[in-house]
Amino acid sequence: MTEGVTAAVVELIGSVERGVSAVRIEAVVAAKASKHAHRVRLLGHLRDDPGVLVSGADSMPRVLQRIIEALIDAGATTLRLPRCPRCGAERLLPEHLDGRPICSTCYGRARKRTITCHRCGRERRLGSAFGDADYCGACWRDMYDDAEAMFLDAAGLALRTSIPPP
Ligand SMILES: [Zn+2]
Ligand SMILES: [Zn+2]
Repeated sequence: MTEGVTAAVVELIGSVERGVSAVRIEAVVAAKASKHAHRVRLLGHLRDDPGVLVSGADSMPRVLQRIIEALIDAGATTLRLPRCPRCGAERLLPEHLDGRPICSTCYGRARKRTITCHRCGRERRLGSAFGDADYCGACWRDMYDDAEAMFLDAAGLALRTSIPPP
């Protein structure tokens, strides 16, 4: 039931964050997670890991990042945006590099780097990096279908950050 799911999400967020009214939280959740399926997934995530609201974990789903961003704008003081693993800033992490979410500033900076592509051997702008290997944009797009399997293979291993922090 749609209303039940939304109410449960609002209650979970409201139990952590006192700086924003339940009415406001509900409006933000409705606007940012407009699809019922998104709210159901969000509720599952929050029930599994309620601490995600304040931990700054970079594993936070994007829909939750957008909700938290809007609630911070609305005066939330307890909720935390995820921390970028590269620059340490608490902000939206819409991009991925090395299988981890990063902020758009770090992504833009990383993309400017010229690398020797691990796959085609050409000197190119960095498309993406994975483990020890850098890939150009064209190769990365070719490989993209396999990327998820690569990330899953690497789960549990410490992913090397191939670009030093700025
Ligand atoms: Zn960053
Ligand atoms: Zn290449």
